Amino acid sequence: MKNNPHAFTVAPGDAIRAPAFPKSLVETAYEHLLSLIVTMRIPPDGHIGIEGLARELKISQTPIREALNLLEAQKLAYKIPNVGFRAAPLLKRSEIRDLFELRLLVEPRAAAFAAQRSSDETLAALRDMSQAMSRSVEGDVEYAQFAEGDARLHQLIGAASGNRFIAEMIESLHVHLHIFRFLYRTSAAVDAAQEHAALVAALLDRDPFAAEEAMRAHLIASRGRMERAVNAQEAADDSRPAAPRRRRRTVGANGGTPS
Ligand SMILES: [Zn+2]
Repeated sequence: MKNNPHAFTVAPGDAIRAPAFPKSLVETAYEHLLSLIVTMRIPPDGHIGIEGLARELKISQTPIREALNLLEAQKLAYKIPNVGFRAAPLLKRSEIRDLFELRLLVEPRAAAFAAQRSSDETLAALRDMSQAMSRSVEGDVEYAQFAEGDARLHQLIGAASGNRFIAEMIESLHVHLHIFRFLYRTSAAVDAAQEHAALVAALLDRDPFAAEEAMRAHLIASRGRMERAVNAQEAADDSRPAAPRRRRRTVGANGGTPS
């Protein structure tokens, strides 16, 4: 993945603000923080302890702050002045519903346009990304990388639609990393990889109808996975009425270091 020109593309708009530090340190900090947030080892609204992370990763605080700025741009972290960074809250049920409503309006048609308009090079890049994401996902960092890969794949299809405004809209949602926070410890990565393979096959065939249908099927399946995950989350919360809701998953809240 590291040699892929699309790897570690946070988002085209964010890449303009290239970090001023050696990329490897920021990248290391970013990947570590992303895995802590996506797997919710830093819980929603949990404090992100920069000093603890610097000690754990044996790097200075500067690349960690740089990585946090990237995460803030992706709406995965937010800054409280004079306090520090916290992990973003989870999407609400109504937000999930609205997001998929919008995605189903736009992304299937974007896939159809991509089947007609994409360059062969972009289709080859999509094929490589889909194949890379079909490898087994083991561990938190790989899981976070899968979530990033999903974001890149959908953004690239948006770009391949040839419509800049469609591409910018898909990119601006920053939806994928949020979605995968709900789906940790599910078979989402395996299921999504199979759906992506069908989608990319239709794009490689340059079949706009099949591409549109495959994208719609993927989004509907993804929405179903989200609904089941949210239901399971709420059922788990309901069965533990003793503690206030936000305080329940506090592992890793201090210093961002999982115990
Ligand atoms: Zn996907």
